Amino acid sequence: MSHDYRAPGLKSGLEIHQQLDTKEKLFCGCPTLLRDTKESNFEFFRYLRPTQSEMGVVDKAALEEMKLTKKFIYKAYDTTCLVENDEEPPRELNADAVDLALTIALMLNMQIVDELYTMRKIVIDGSNTSGFQRTGLVATGGYIDTSAGRVGIDVLCLEEEAAQKVEDRGDSVLYSLDRLGIPLVEIGTAPDIVSPAHAKEVAEKLGMILRSTGKVKRGLGTIRQDVNISIAEGARVEIKGVQELDLIETIVEREAARQVALLEIKKELNKRKASVSDKIIDVTSVFAGTTSKVILKALKGGIVYAVNLPGFAGLAGRELQPERRLGTEFSDRAKKSGVGGIFHTDELPNYGITEEEVKALRKAVGAQENDCVVMVADSKEKAKGAMEAVIIRAREALEIVPEETRRALPDGNSAYMRPLPGAARMYPETDVPPVEITTDRINSIILPELILDRIPRYMKQFKLNEELAGQIARSGNFVLFEGIMHKVPDVNANVVVRTLETVLYELEKEGVNVNNIKEAHLLSLFSLHADGKIPNEAVSGVLKLIAGKPELTLEKAIATLGIGVVESGELETAIDKIIGSRMDFIKDKGMNSVGPLMGIVMKELRGKVSGQEISRLLTEKISKKLETLK
Ligand SMILES: [Zn+2]
Repeated sequence: MSHDYRAPGLKSGLEIHQQLDTKEKLFCGCPTLLRDTKESNFEFFRYLRPTQSEMGVVDKAALEEMKLTKKFIYKAYDTTCLVENDEEPPRELNADAVDLALTIALMLNMQIVDELYTMRKIVIDGSNTSGFQRTGLVATGGYIDTSAGRVGIDVLCLEEEAAQKVEDRGDSVLYSLDRLGIPLVEIGTAPDIVSPAHAKEVAEKLGMILRSTGKVKRGLGTIRQDVNISIAEGARVEIKGVQELDLIETIVEREAARQVALLEIKKELNKRKASVSDKIIDVTSVFAGTTSKVILKALKGGIVYAVNLPGFAGLAGRELQPERRLGTEFSDRAKKSGVGGIFHTDELPNYGITEEEVKALRKAVGAQENDCVVMVADSKEKAKGAMEAVIIRAREALEIVPEETRRALPDGNSAYMRPLPGAARMYPETDVPPVEITTDRINSIILPELILDRIPRYMKQFKLNEELAGQIARSGNFVLFEGIMHKVPDVNANVVVRTLETVLYELEKEGVNVNNIKEAHLLSLFSLHADGKIPNEAVSGVLKLIAGKPELTLEKAIATLGIGVVESGELETAIDKIIGSRMDFIKDKGMNSVGPLMGIVMKELRGKVSGQEISRLLTEKISKKLETLK
């Protein structure tokens, strides 16, 4: 690839969707809990078709989706209600979610609206049972500062999350309703981003600000980024669904490269005086004796259609992104009519299609040497739709980079999704009353400390090293951590961080139900630890027991495990015995023998006594022994 991503006039903006970690959903009291689809109580189905919106306009994007009518099946749970099913009207906006959206708006230096109106945004992919997504504008006109200057934050909206797509079965789609209605903030930056690396920096900074609240959901799928990109003479293209932050840089780089390549192709086509025939020609007879399996399969009741693109030879096969060509763009458009893909002569002979068949195909459509022929084999109706879509895309190649919504692919490339949606997609949600945002309400918001500031404070205040301070400052557990440090000031902060961030995580991975471990358990645990009654190595075992029997007190738990019940004298006896049997080793190593012997004593007492206590006694006894040997 020779394309330079520092394409002239590169402009990019981000749209970030972050799920909020409120107890309840945005328009009902259901918990914001994700479920296993196997736990679904019942399912129901709908056929959704786009209706004329109240504005009297059917959106272009909606029309595109309408080409394929689908049945939508929904899985419901004992944690979802009639609001998710669209059988009951939405309740008023969740006040916690509104407050959190206001907090984030203030952190982004935004101007907050006087009244929050809930609007309906049409969606017809079945991701919402009602056929629209509810969204409300919270704030406008903010900014963040970055290494490449100020980046505007144009809008912040509070929205409901869509249902999770579980499976696309072709003629039907299965959705899960657990995620539908989880509050979400959508943050749109101005197109102030100037390079791929800058896009990543902005995304990271916004992510840091959001996580600083401690009230956003974590994990895969809880934050999604859409990226808008254009270059000079190119077009605005929106790439949806980037889940990994590391991919943003590549996405911007490759989209800029794609637009540069499309502009080069356009120049070349114009030089060649290329054109696009609008004649869709039936070339089925060319393949009467074919041995190509793909064609044979399609010909069972199907047809082969072809269209000639004069002057396109070599350009349909021109690479736009690694492994993706102009021909791939033809194919993506064609697939919207339900075909599996298309063939073009830049890539033929191939797929069992012979050189003779290619010659006959060219002849049948009257193609000259410099022409490219595109063909498709499928049912008559699908094949016709596919060819019409190819003709439209080929015409665009002569004139423009098309404005599109594209889908991010895992390698940083993107594929066509639909035309860029128009502006006529919103109308008022009359079931939800507007919420007045008073100055008092805004003034009562306490801005959270940024993670960037929290790390050095933890290092100073709790004597944590940078790694542990960073780990807990970035974690959703930071509020819990501060509570513990406040209530048990004598506890070693290192132990608290390791317990919250590593021990509990490992127990959960082992299948232990750590949700049973409550803050009160942790407070008792750390008090006992601070008093030297629970050795470090016993923490995991104690928590495991508590998770299984949450009704136990911590004292009961450590008694059950036999921790700290070493009879006075038992420890001394054990140590004396080990010293007595290893005198040669002690004479040889001197005080350096303490470390190795420590391991032996610990093993013998299996975490019943704290390491500190063993170390103290062992050091004392060995130094006395060495004294007598002098
Ligand atoms: Zn509900």
